Amino acid sequence: MNSFLSRINKIYASSKARMMCRWPEIKSLYVQEPDIFENIFKRGSSIRYKLRHDVRMNALWIAYNITDGYLKNPRCYYCGILFEKSDYFNGTVHLDHFDPISKTGKHLAGNVVPACRDCNLLKSNLLDIELLQISKNPETFFTNKYLSSSDSKKEKLMDFSALFFQRIGGIDGYREKYNISINEIRSHQDKMKDNYRAKWYRN
Ligand SMILES: [Zn+2]
Repeated sequence: MNSFLSRINKIYASSKARMMCRWPEIKSLYVQEPDIFENIFKRGSSIRYKLRHDVRMNALWIAYNITDGYLKNPRCYYCGILFEKSDYFNGTVHLDHFDPISKTGKHLAGNVVPACRDCNLLKSNLLDIELLQISKNPETFFTNKYLSSSDSKKEKLMDFSALFFQRIGGIDGYREKYNISINEIRSHQDKMKDNYRAKWYRN
């Protein structure tokens, strides 16, 4: 066992947290992609989270989740842009807290998603409820916030917030809004993300 594996094995063995998976699964994932696993673990256990409960164990779960995602479907959680391996090391892939930790969010695996730099900066610390307001009632929202932002940024935020509708509006609300069946949701979401990227990423 190399030194990093020994280290995370100790963390795993000493944690009282409920186990998301067994040690052989963690080890097998690490062996498949050690560089990304280790990189995400280090970022997930950064000094800014040090005061939070059981930060090393949470960093382990976050590294496990993100590495697993890299092997299966390496994309930005929000816009769906495809990541290259190098993107995990060059600042393109951010670890975004879905529910912002500057507000009520926790530094837990279920709340940390891989996001491209562009989406992470655009989302900033917006909450679900604010994204819903932008999507449903942009005039009111922009009357109170983003006062000095350009029209282009506001339009981008409106398009971005539409990508969240399934999560914040519920599956039934989403189906009703777009008049689609439950089997069409996945492909509809993918299409929305494709359109978003085509419009806002000129590459
Ligand atoms: Zn993105």
